[in-house]
Amino acid sequence: MSNKERRKMDRLVVASISSSLMLLVVAGLVHPSSGGITTTSRSTSCGYQSCHATKPGFINVHLVPHTHDDVGWLKTVDQYYYGSRTGIQKAGVQYILDSVVEELQANPERRFIYVEMAFFWQWWEEQDESTRDVVRDLVSQGRLEFINGGWCMNDEATTHYVDIIDQMSLGLSLLNDTFGECGRPRIAWQIDPFGHSREQAFIFSQMGYDGLFFGRLDHEDKKQRMAAKTMEMVWSSSSLGQTGWLFTGVNYNLYQPPPGFCFDILCSDLPVIDNPKSKEYNVDQRVTEFLNYCQRQSEAYATDHILLTMGGDFTYQDANVWYKNMDKLIKYANERQTNGSRFNLLYSTPSCYVKSLNGVKKSWPLKTDDFFPYGSDAHSYWTGYFTSRPAFKYMVRQGSNLLQACKQMDSALSWSGSTNQGDVNVMKRAMGIAQHHDAVSGTEKQAVVQDYQGRLHEGVVECQKTQASYYQSQLPILGRPLPDVKFCQLNVSQCDVSETSGRFVVNIYNSLARHVDKYVRIPVAGGDSYQVLDPDGKVVDSQLIPISPQVQALPGRTSSATEELVFLAAQLPPIGSKSYYVERDSKHRRRHSFKSKSQRLVPGEDHIITTDKVKVRVDGTTGLLSSVTVNGEEYFVQQEFLWYPGYNGDNESADRRSSGAYIFRPNGTDAFPMRRTMTAAIITAVYTGPLVQEIHQFYDSWVSQVIRIYRGQEHVELDWVVGPVPVSDKIGKEVISRVTTTILQSDGTFYTDSNGRQTLRRELDARESYTYTPTEPVSGNYYPINSHLFIRDPVGEQQATVLVDRSQGGSSLIGGLIELMVHRRLLRDDSFGVDEPLDETAFQQGLVVRGSHYLILSDGPSSAGRYRPLAQQIYKQPQLSFIPTTLTFVDWRRLYKTQQQLISRELPENVNLLTLENRSDGSYLIRLEHIYDVGEDKVLSEPVTVSLKDLFPGFAITSAEETILGGNQLKKDSQRLVWHSSSDKQTNVRSSHSDEFPDLDLQPMEIRTFILNLVRDNRLDK
Ligand SMILES: [Zn+2]
Repeated sequence: MSNKERRKMDRLVVASISSSLMLLVVAGLVHPSSGGITTTSRSTSCGYQSCHATKPGFINVHLVPHTHDDVGWLKTVDQYYYGSRTGIQKAGVQYILDSVVEELQANPERRFIYVEMAFFWQWWEEQDESTRDVVRDLVSQGRLEFINGGWCMNDEATTHYVDIIDQMSLGLSLLNDTFGECGRPRIAWQIDPFGHSREQAFIFSQMGYDGLFFGRLDHEDKKQRMAAKTMEMVWSSSSLGQTGWLFTGVNYNLYQPPPGFCFDILCSDLPVIDNPKSKEYNVDQRVTEFLNYCQRQSEAYATDHILLTMGGDFTYQDANVWYKNMDKLIKYANERQTNGSRFNLLYSTPSCYVKSLNGVKKSWPLKTDDFFPYGSDAHSYWTGYFTSRPAFKYMVRQGSNLLQACKQMDSALSWSGSTNQGDVNVMKRAMGIAQHHDAVSGTEKQAVVQDYQGRLHEGVVECQKTQASYYQSQLPILGRPLPDVKFCQLNVSQCDVSETSGRFVVNIYNSLARHVDKYVRIPVAGGDSYQVLDPDGKVVDSQLIPISPQVQALPGRTSSATEELVFLAAQLPPIGSKSYYVERDSKHRRRHSFKSKSQRLVPGEDHIITTDKVKVRVDGTTGLLSSVTVNGEEYFVQQEFLWYPGYNGDNESADRRSSGAYIFRPNGTDAFPMRRTMTAAIITAVYTGPLVQEIHQFYDSWVSQVIRIYRGQEHVELDWVVGPVPVSDKIGKEVISRVTTTILQSDGTFYTDSNGRQTLRRELDARESYTYTPTEPVSGNYYPINSHLFIRDPVGEQQATVLVDRSQGGSSLIGGLIELMVHRRLLRDDSFGVDEPLDETAFQQGLVVRGSHYLILSDGPSSAGRYRPLAQQIYKQPQLSFIPTTLTFVDWRRLYKTQQQLISRELPENVNLLTLENRSDGSYLIRLEHIYDVGEDKVLSEPVTVSLKDLFPGFAITSAEETILGGNQLKKDSQRLVWHSSSDKQTNVRSSHSDEFPDLDLQPMEIRTFILNLVRDNRLDK
């Protein structure tokens, strides 16, 4: 279509919209570039077409020059980028990129891959146009290729799927904007993360990747795969069939070059010396050694192709050293072909290697489970980092929730043409960096985590500005500006506005696309009573309840609040907010305002709290939870805190490995209860009232908990405070919360989430896809939990589910039992590089952490219908902001809206609006997902149709183009390589979408992504 024709078409489209109230969608009429995806590039020789020819009949040795640049670990991101603090590590990313670009120009045969966009972007922005032009040429010719292409190489255990999608998309969209189709990575490259998740593989498959490579898998798994030549496979990553297939390869030597062949200034291996007059001449011997290595490697792989990772951590700061030696290696090795050598060396990339394998007629083994946990030897299970740095992990999860709300608000501001005073990109990039495999994983040095926290804090501040701008644009009715919007530190129950103001307004923003009931808790000074008015001015019930002494004493808390005001924000609108008006009244005249009643504690007597849905019993002797009755059904459940002593080894051999930031290695298999005798009274208070009931427990000066139930809700909340973990006895401690049920028939089978999304079945002391030798009975059975962990009896009568508010390690070591590790403080390093014990301190003492578990007891069939929505609500807690005021409610409401929403109706119960964000070209990216998997729920697991018709009030959708998950390629242009597997029985659930916009079908667990163009249509406004 010519430009002229296109303009005509565009005019027609707009005209047809303005001449009709009907929503008109013209997918396909608009040129792809107007959908915001750059498809053009300066040449078409990138991608698979740029691969060097391989030689049939030879073992083709694909040399892949690469550098592994951690986005923070021992040094901060900027220290790594600029190369400062060489005393810690000689690593400067800017020199790597400078040097590689120089050396690639010297010889068109050479190849290089680059992975981490956080670094590349920093470098790109510092380059002049002529250098950028050179880089564009190298990219368009496939000589410099982007692989992975996310903002970082994210961790796979402690990350939430929304954050993985976001951090990948951030890098991918910048690549697309800058380099077009030639910048689109085809291969995923997770060479360093400590285990690999099924949901991550699914995400890659949906992002159009043709393959995945990684380095770390369990030592037994690797041994068995090498022997069976199954180092390469097809990973079936979801219930969606072949659309979720991903070719997956395990690297032979992690991501390192063959021993003796690291040609880097950081290494001391011999160069290849080919001057026969030199006494140092060694080329014959070097080539022989190299080919011997290739021979050994090829014996572990199934085809005539092998991939050699030629690089390592921060290598190529002087790329000449590498390329000069590899040029020679290739030349002299290939010269031997005339003498019968079977090896053919070539510069290659992971894409070219995958393309070669795809050309081999072969059926690949099918993998269906995941690669957790990762044991690098019989005593080193990398399961400690599932919990390491629990406060930072919480900050990242909170940041994720805030970012989603912030992107929605940013979109709304863009619709209304209002200015956003905040910069969402700051938070996007901070969150992108935080997903790195040494960031949220908790395996970085203390100074580095502080840098990550500082970046996140800057992002939070920008997002708060966005929230303020949003309310400023949405709420005023008569043009009178909204007073300043304030924010509180509710994680430590601290809030200036509510503690000091006689009247204030609370804005509660719900980022879920359906109505939500939320119990709000606002810290207030004690002694007063309060009246809470809903958006219509109706008085709502509220209850004052004491804040536990342990929360009041949280280090760093500067609040004088002793109570929390609790009320139900009912039916919060989908993607919208309600404002509640709160007024203090010291004379206690208010109705509907309740004080909690404190129950008298009788030693030895059971304590019971009850709502309309749930009854909780605590044993009077032990002080521990003993049963929960839900809807008349009683479940015998005990819950307590225990700790494992961390092993203090010297790391001299596998069996002397210490517990550390990466490794969980308890000294023995027993966890010690917090108190050796249960005679002391653990219960310190029991509070009842119409909205919320609480039992306060005090285990020790460093562990306390509130057991909490709310009216109308069926779960039990366990709100714990753990720390400072005492180490004066020279014993590091790994603290767990253990739930013991009578569901004994669960017997070593339990279920854990994958990045907060899919659910995988786990079996004690067993692995689905290889023969496993139990050597570490506790840590070898730990799995990452980002959302839920449950056990159930085989007939489905009873299920116990625990939901988490951040990433944690968890397991079920005996039938009927669930445990989650909440905190760890250790005195030794585990010798995997971080070189610091995980001994976190804050405010001059050991780190204190507050968190929540949510316990659901139900029958099996109805369980998913309970935990799936609750998991969403825990992750997407409504955002609270506060405005002190002197206005009466009537005046406030005359000036400001007290309720608003961005979408016209809620989406179906099983659908989540995963993303709503605006793009740099004025279009919008949305993602819709089905939140249930096949068979989880009788009704909710069914495919569902969502209509986008009239979803955005006042706007017509002028175009809607479906893209792959990363938003960087149109779905119709995506053609992934096709693979064959020995288990070809799995077919696509659906080969192509038969639905017609705006009515979209979603299969269980499916995510669909669209770029929308919207125009305001005033007549659509109410
Ligand atoms: Zn790394």
